[in-house]
Amino acid sequence: MDNALDPYFEKRRRLIEQLVKEGVIKSEKVKKALLRIPRHEFVWPDQLEHAYNDIPLPLGDTNQTVSAPHMVALMNELLDVKEGDKILEVGTGGGYHAATLAVLTCPNLDSPRPLVFTVEINHKLVEFARRNLARLGLDRVVKVIEGDGSKGYLEEAPYDCISVTAAAPRIPQPLIEQLKPNGRMVIPVQSEFFEQNLLLVRKDDKGRVSTTNMGPVIFVPLRGEYGF
Ligand code: SAH
Repeated sequence: MDNALDPYFEKRRRLIEQLVKEGVIKSEKVKKALLRIPRHEFVWPDQLEHAYNDIPLPLGDTNQTVSAPHMVALMNELLDVKEGDKILEVGTGGGYHAATLAVLTCPNLDSPRPLVFTVEINHKLVEFARRNLARLGLDRVVKVIEGDGSKGYLEEAPYDCISVTAAAPRIPQPLIEQLKPNGRMVIPVQSEFFEQNLLLVRKDDKGRVSTTNMGPVIFVPLRGEYGF
């Protein structure tokens, strides 16, 4: 991940400048994380030339997508990740968003144990994401788990941050339970009008939960026990 040797660095820098100008990237830490992670290493090979366009990209024939950079930036700003935070992601896809979360919780990427736990239900994508993360040496900080993330990942709970990257019919109760006091969760939830909204869910130090609607979004549907 040496930027000086990365032929895509200039394209990535320009995309990130654009997101800063648009006001999507607000903090220095989110800017640094997106500059650091080469999105082209996480897209399907036939999408390489689009890696630095601000759009979601198809993941081969899996019917799933790599999230658009502005969505990853927006969700990361809302999560307000602090160094050392333990993070759960539901829906790994190609592993791009998880890689940015790894930089946010562990800027030196030298954590002795994983801090980002990301659950993916599609076997092909589990393998794809694991390969992508390992190639960049991120597999020490990010652990990819194959399974149904709609019920969270109890083995490592509770989490400071939970990022759900597929749209749910409602907020799954196990995810609320697996959030620490003072924790933050972002999750797209489908309304009765088939519109999806991104919700920011916060738990205060007494365990009280509040939800803020951050506006309309488009995600692939969440599957599994608490999905569609
Ligand atoms: N976070 C990804 C985007 C993933 S798209 C990125 O960095 O670009 C959403 C992903 O959620 C898909 O890969 C899909 O297979 C997965 N998914 C859907 N339902 C799931 C479930 N119940 N558990 C785990 N993964 C799920």
